[in-house]
Amino acid sequence: MATKLAENLYHLDIPLVGSPLKNLNSYLIVGPQSLLIDTGFRQEGCLVALQAELDSLGINRDRLDVFATHLHSDHLGLAPQIVGTAGNIFISQRDLDYLAIYGTTQGWREMAKLDVISGFTQEEVDYLWEENPAKSSSPLPYDHYIAVTEGHPFHYGGYTLTCIETPGHTPGHMCLYDQENRRIFTGDHVLFHITPNICRWPGVADSLGDYLHSLAKVSLLDVDQMHTGHRHDRGDYQTRIAQLQAHHQARLADTLQAVVAHPHCNAYMLAGHLRWSIRAKNWEEFPLTQKFFAVGETLAHLDYLRRRGQVQVVFDGVHDIWDVV
Ligand SMILES: [Zn+2]
Repeated sequence: MATKLAENLYHLDIPLVGSPLKNLNSYLIVGPQSLLIDTGFRQEGCLVALQAELDSLGINRDRLDVFATHLHSDHLGLAPQIVGTAGNIFISQRDLDYLAIYGTTQGWREMAKLDVISGFTQEEVDYLWEENPAKSSSPLPYDHYIAVTEGHPFHYGGYTLTCIETPGHTPGHMCLYDQENRRIFTGDHVLFHITPNICRWPGVADSLGDYLHSLAKVSLLDVDQMHTGHRHDRGDYQTRIAQLQAHHQARLADTLQAVVAHPHCNAYMLAGHLRWSIRAKNWEEFPLTQKFFAVGETLAHLDYLRRRGQVQVVFDGVHDIWDVV
């Protein structure tokens, strides 16, 4: 059911069946031309739920624009199917570049070589490719995305929303900020209940550093109403930002400690020495897809420590091997 948040502004609850994220929060601003912020996976369940909610509000589907906070398929997946015939899909140029890479088998295979260097076996990487839900739930091919950058203004339903670049969760992640009403749509940049996943991205030197910088950036905004990409959004904005910052500082200390205690390891091995909030008895029993996120997150923390001279990495011909400086 669509929930009215303010004049011409609605929250749409899109179920993400089978995903630990449980739901996606879409937001709709209704006007002569309407804007949908994030869409859900390209899955039947998401499509049916989204269409039902749009229809219940009686909006003109031909004049529907879509803004994707980032390229992940739970946010962008349905965009090409749901955008109006007289509508556009907006996303950052940076995420469009990554969408082009990850959208092809060739691009994925190139990226997968880096996972082997981090410690995954070739069999694990092959399995991940076959099972990757992003492959089946990512957007259909679409040639007309419109790239937007920092400060781009949108005008819908009497509101003015401004693009705020917040790299970290993805290299081109963006929030939308309504300064007049002190309202922010955070996508996956700031979430309650869940800590946004921060992974290493190919071509990004320090994605955790970028993320922490983006957190500091949005903490400067005047915000009364915060609308997140998943789960509930009840809680204090500044408190949550401070908690996320503290989480990563603690995680950095743990990561450095793991490198000290376990010298000469690859990132896959180091991830196995860290604590994770997941129901698995040990690293061996970790589901492979979760291992993928855990190793990516470990690499983001290692890169951060490396950039600040605390750890070093050497390629031994097969793996990247980490040690303290
Ligand atoms: Zn998400």
